[in-house]
Amino acid sequence: MGKVALITGASRGIGRQMARDFAAQGYGVAIGYLRHEQEALALQAELGPSALAVQADVSDANAVAAMVQKVCAHFGKIDVLINNAGIASFGLLTEVSEKDWLWLFDVNVHGAYRCIREVLPKMISRRRGAIINISSIWGVTGASCEVCYSASKAALIGLTKALAKEVGPSGIRVNCIAPGVIETDMNARLSAADLHALAEETPLGRIGTPEDISAAALFLASSKASFITGQVLGANGGLVI
Ligand code: NAP
Repeated sequence: MGKVALITGASRGIGRQMARDFAAQGYGVAIGYLRHEQEALALQAELGPSALAVQADVSDANAVAAMVQKVCAHFGKIDVLINNAGIASFGLLTEVSEKDWLWLFDVNVHGAYRCIREVLPKMISRRRGAIINISSIWGVTGASCEVCYSASKAALIGLTKALAKEVGPSGIRVNCIAPGVIETDMNARLSAADLHALAEETPLGRIGTPEDISAAALFLASSKASFITGQVLGANGGLVI
C-alpha cells in the first residue's frame, strides 16, 4: 500500500486541501476533525476508499489515542503526521483570560504533542516517518493582539527543532510550515479591505490559499525532502523574509 497521512483539522480550510492533495498523490488519508462531521464525512466520500474520517478533540489525550489506534487499525501504519488542527484568538494580552490562554495552548501545542506521542513509537519501530507541524508567520515574528496565538505557534517551532534532533537518528524527519495569511474560515473576521491591504503589503501581491500550504506539506512529506529536518518553511508570499 502507498503511504498514509494522518492530518488533524482536515474537515475545513488548509487541512481539507491537504487531504485532497495527499489523496491525489496516492496517500491513504485520515481526516481528523472535531465539530464539522458532515464536512469530514463528505470529504471521506469524495476521496473514496483511500480516506477515513476520524473524530478526536486534540485537547483530549484519550480521544487522540483512540484516533491513532483507529487509523492504524484501518491503514496498518502512519507514515506522515500533520499537526494542523488549531484555533486562533484575538485581543490584548490583558484581556485574554487565563482559561482562554490555557485552552489555546491545549489545542495548538499540547494537541500536537499528544498526537506525536501516540504516533512516534510506531514510526520509531519502523525507523521511518515524517511529522509536519503547522505553525504560523506570527510564531516567527509575533503579532500584536495575538500574543497567545503567536506564543503557541512559536512553541511549535521549538518543538519541531528539538524533536528533529531527538528522532533524526531513528530515521524520522520533523519540520514546520509557517503560513502567512491564508484564505480560510480562520480569517473570516478580516474585512475585504483588510485582506486587500494585506495582499498589497505582500511582495507576491496576494493572500495565500490552502493549496499553497498543501504544496509545501506534500514536499516536506516526500522523499524529495529526505535531507530536510528541523526546518521552518515560510509560505507567506514574501511578507516576512
Ligand atoms: P480553520 O479553517 O479554522 O480549520 C481549523 C481546523 O482545526 C478544523 O478542521 C477544526 O475541526 C480543527 N480543530 C479545531 N480545534 C480542534 C480540536 N480541539 N481538536 C481537533 N480538531 C480541531 O483553520 P485553517 O485556517 O485551515 O488553519 C489550519 C492551521 O493552519 C491552524 O493550525 C492555523 O493556526 C494554521 N494557520 C492558519 C493561517 C491562516 O491564515 N488561515 C495562517 C497561519 C497558520 P472542526 O471544524 O471539525 O471542528
